[in-house]
Amino acid sequence: MFQSRFRTLAGIVMLATTATSLIAEEKVLNLYSARHYQTDEALYSNFTKQTGIKINRIEGKEEELLERIRNEGANSPADVLLTVDAARLAKAHELGLFAPVKSALLETRIPANLRTDDWFSFSTRARVIIFNKAALKAEDVQSYDDLANPKLKGKVCTRSGSHPYNLSLMASIIAHQGEAKAESWAKGVVANFARAPKGGDTDQIKAVAAGECAVTISNTYYVARILRSDKPEDRKIADAVGIVWPNQNTTGAHINVSGGGVLKNAPHKEAAVKFLEYLASDDAQRYFADGNNEWPVVASVKVDNPALKRMGAFKADPLPVGNLAMYVVKAQVIFDKAGYR
Ligand code: FE
Repeated sequence: MFQSRFRTLAGIVMLATTATSLIAEEKVLNLYSARHYQTDEALYSNFTKQTGIKINRIEGKEEELLERIRNEGANSPADVLLTVDAARLAKAHELGLFAPVKSALLETRIPANLRTDDWFSFSTRARVIIFNKAALKAEDVQSYDDLANPKLKGKVCTRSGSHPYNLSLMASIIAHQGEAKAESWAKGVVANFARAPKGGDTDQIKAVAAGECAVTISNTYYVARILRSDKPEDRKIADAVGIVWPNQNTTGAHINVSGGGVLKNAPHKEAAVKFLEYLASDDAQRYFADGNNEWPVVASVKVDNPALKRMGAFKADPLPVGNLAMYVVKAQVIFDKAGYR
C-alpha cells in the first residue's frame, strides 16, 4: 500500500519535473558569444524581461567558439553565435554552421549591405589611419593606397597580415581594385615597414605616438578607448596622433562589423530569431554598439558617445560585407606572397 502510493507520488513528481523542463526548454536561449562588454548585462536582461526567455551565455574567443560549434555538430546546444569580423562570420557561413533566417523586421532595420541570408551585422567599426602629427601631415596619408607610397619608407607599422581585420581590409581592396593592384599594394606596404608586424591595433597606436613608426591602421573602437581614457599616458597618446578617415574621395573607409546568426542545429530556433530581432531594436542597438564604441547598424538610432562624436562623420565603403568572404582566402595568399606576415 505504502509502496504503491509512494510510486504514484514519485510518478507525479516525475511528470511535474518533465513538464517544467519542457516549459524551461521553450523559454531558454543558448548564446555563444565572443563579445563581453560592460553593457552586455543590460542588453541580455532586457531581452529576458521583454520575452521571458532566459539567456544561457557561453563566452569564448572567436576561433574557439567556431571550433566548439563545429565539434558539437548535430548535438550542439548553441542557438545563436555572436562574433566580430566579417571574415569570421563568413567562415561560419562557409562551414555551414548558420541556418537561413527570413525576417521582415531584420530586412527593414538592417541595411542590405550589412546582412546576408544567414548572418546579420549589429554594429560597425571602421579601419582608420593613425599618424604621428610631428612626423607626418594628414595630407600624406589620405588613403590606404598612400601606405604603399615609397615616400613612407620605414614609417609604417601594423598588426599581422594574417589577422582577420587586415584580411578583411585586403579583401575589400581586392574587391575594388583587383588582385594585381592589391598585390602591389601589399608589397608596397611591406617595403615601408618600420618593423615586422607584432601586437594588436592598440600597440600600433602606441608605437605611432612614441615615434617608433609614423603611421598605422586601426579599428575605430581602439582609438575611441584611448580618446575616452582619463589615464595620463592615454591623454599623451591622444595628443600625439592624428586620425584620418581613409578613401573619402574614392571608395570610403573600410567597414567591418560585429554580428551573428542562428545556428543550423539550434534547439530553440524561434527564440533565436526573436533574439536577433531584439538586437535590431533601438535600445538594444544602443547597448550593442556602445558597449564597444561602435556604430549601430540601424540608421535611425542615435548614439551619444563622446569619442565617436569627436571622430566625426565619414563616408563608409558601401561594399556588401558578405562579399568580403569571397576574397578572404585570396587576401591571405597575396599577403603571404608579399611577405606580410
Ligand atoms: Fe578587436
